[in-house]
Amino acid sequence: MSEPIKTDVLIIGAGPVGLFAVFELGLLDIKTHLVDILDKAGGQCGELYPEKPIYDIPGIPMVTGQGLTDALIEQIKPFNPQFHFGEMITSIENVGDPLFRVSTDAGKIFECKAIVIAAGGGSFQPKRPPIVGIEAYEEKSVFYAVRKMDAFRGKNLIVVGGGDSALDWTLNLQPIAKRLTLVHRLDDFRGAPDSVNKMRALVASGAMDLKIGQVTDLEGADGKLAAVSIKDKDGALSRVEVDCVLPFFGLTMKLGPVADWGLDMEDGLIKVDVSTFETNRPGIFAIGDINTYKGKLKLILSGFHEGALMAQKAHHYVHPEKRLVFQYTTSSTSLQKKLGVA
Ligand SMILES: Cc1cc2nc3c(=O)[nH]c(=O)nc-3n(C[C@H](O)[C@H](O)[C@H](O)COP(=O)(O)OP(=O)(O)OC[C@H]3O[C@@H](n4cnc5c(N)ncnc54)[C@H](O)[C@@H]3O)c2cc1C
Repeated sequence: MSEPIKTDVLIIGAGPVGLFAVFELGLLDIKTHLVDILDKAGGQCGELYPEKPIYDIPGIPMVTGQGLTDALIEQIKPFNPQFHFGEMITSIENVGDPLFRVSTDAGKIFECKAIVIAAGGGSFQPKRPPIVGIEAYEEKSVFYAVRKMDAFRGKNLIVVGGGDSALDWTLNLQPIAKRLTLVHRLDDFRGAPDSVNKMRALVASGAMDLKIGQVTDLEGADGKLAAVSIKDKDGALSRVEVDCVLPFFGLTMKLGPVADWGLDMEDGLIKVDVSTFETNRPGIFAIGDINTYKGKLKLILSGFHEGALMAQKAHHYVHPEKRLVFQYTTSSTSLQKKLGVA
């Protein structure tokens, strides 16, 4: 077992909310390390929709998931956060007052005065469609997320599903695909009506195909798809030649070890005090999609607000001897010095 890494606050999860927490804590002279199961920062924004536009970040009319992640990483640079990717936090122990020992599945140990859980939905995994042998094609011809749209340029694509993700990726990929076919088991879509209308207009103009049915068989070799069989509602089979299949059957959020940390939970989410975003365990905070309270909205902007309030209370644990003075970044020279702009 390695020597403990000492830090003021350990942040579990480097999604947008964990990243912005570094900023709010940094302004209060609180040093942070972040641990994430993924191999990069950004959480859902980076993993699930890096190239999709987000329109409801205050003051930014449009930014992609990756663009927001990049901007947050730039914004927190002055605070020099330390990232530990590809590791999962498995356990949290109280070893002092206030002192926590936190372990990862890779054998790393952290010692910190407060913990911020910004673990989103836990480790999110796409739901796999019930097609025999699909595993052999995953990440070669079958993809559950679009990391780089250009990887699909000029290809024959099949998008499977009837929700927002399936419709959004149909509309985004159709212009660059050689030919795109959307497959859904019903002629009834759960996605936004505007997306459904746009998709139907493309089908009517002959720019793409819509098939009502289910993908039943995959044909190919060494992970490379050649064609799929689609069974319609009357049981008739058709064969479609294809390079890639993109199933969007939703995500399974696996909460993982968070459930074993002695925290008050409700439906797999952590209950918090809304004035501080502290959990029932003093010194442990939960912000972003992982928490629940009356009126909670799973929006990035809600997580940013929660991070600002969390930092005020975390300051009591990290710097109990210091009085906290509320300051604006516009007018405080001391804050501007921390940001390296004064
Ligand atoms: C398709 C789609 C579109 C969206 N569009 C918008 C939008 O337009 N506007 C908006 O406001 N919101 C949108 N959202 C929601 C938004 O992405 C989430 O609210 C936001 O990502 C929550 O951020 P977070 O940091 O709390 O969690 P996440 O982004 O889920 O990040 C949590 C991180 O914690 C890590 N983690 C989990 N458990 C552990 C552990 N035990 N140890 C280490 N790491 C761990 C995960 O790997 C993950 O990287 C959208 C979501 C989706 C799926």
